[in-house]
Amino acid sequence: MVRVSRRNFLKFSAALSAAGGIVPLDSLFTASSAGAGSKPVVISTWNHGVAANDAAWRVLSGGGSSLDAVEAGVRISEGDPKVMSVGFGGLPDEDCTVTLDASIMGPNGNAGAVAFVQHYKHPISIARKVMEKTDHVMLVGEGAEEFARRQGFERRELLTEEARKRWLEWKAGMSEKDDWLAPAVNHDTIGMVALDSAGDLAGACTTSGLAFKIHGRVGDSPLIGAGMYVDNEVGAAAATGKGEAVIRTCGSFLVVEGMRDGLSPQKAIKRALERIIEWHGGGVDFQVAFVAVNRSGKTGALAIQKGFQYALARDGTNELIDSEYLLE
Ligand code: ASP
Repeated sequence: MVRVSRRNFLKFSAALSAAGGIVPLDSLFTASSAGAGSKPVVISTWNHGVAANDAAWRVLSGGGSSLDAVEAGVRISEGDPKVMSVGFGGLPDEDCTVTLDASIMGPNGNAGAVAFVQHYKHPISIARKVMEKTDHVMLVGEGAEEFARRQGFERRELLTEEARKRWLEWKAGMSEKDDWLAPAVNHDTIGMVALDSAGDLAGACTTSGLAFKIHGRVGDSPLIGAGMYVDNEVGAAAATGKGEAVIRTCGSFLVVEGMRDGLSPQKAIKRALERIIEWHGGGVDFQVAFVAVNRSGKTGALAIQKGFQYALARDGTNELIDSEYLLE
């Protein structure tokens, strides 16, 4: 199917100076980013979202469910050691341990999540088992691993040689003055939301979290309503970027509630990002971005900072798109 292209969207410097750093709502809508509504459709974060969308599209175009599509999609990033921010090959924490987080949510409102998983390559599939085989929503650490073992998942080492080398470089560059407050560089979590031909929505989000984080740190990705949220009557959203900022504001839930208020996915994301910026005192130096889709198949994607890309598959095309952003 796939045609991969890049589009460069407008910069908004004129609007920015007029608005004191924040772009006015109406200047943000291009036909391409707001998107015409159609189904099926799948949208996901970052450049590895293209391969993930391919796998999701195979499910959707065969009449499969959005839930199966998002699971199949993000498993591609989880299994690819070249994607160093998700799954197998993800960058480790400060103790050189890879710890994975994931969440999944379907059209019936049920959800599953795992966090602090250290020996299983596909946390998204463990999260789905939590959703379908238990009446819990979230399992963490050893409990999640024991559950995975009982469900027949294969235990394995997640640290690759390349990831270990990056950790060694990071360790060598550390000084006693370092803390964990500096903006981290790798924001490449995959968040994916999809609408299937039957009109049902689903979402998935999976990550190795911030590189070199404190051992035990869990971000937004496995938290339902923060890293990802689905309401089949309204829409679905998923986040990437600084998890702490997304947790504090219930980011994905906020985007979905914006759509419930009648906003388009793009406007709902903008309102949520503005809330995050405002909450953090205005001039933020970190990245947060969302992708979203509503019930009629309209999509949105927007970031705080320059540099975010997302992948959008619909009508037999799958494009990598440079996102619009709010702050210079
Ligand atoms: N949101 C992720 C986290 O905070 C990081 C990312 O998007 O890369 O764990």
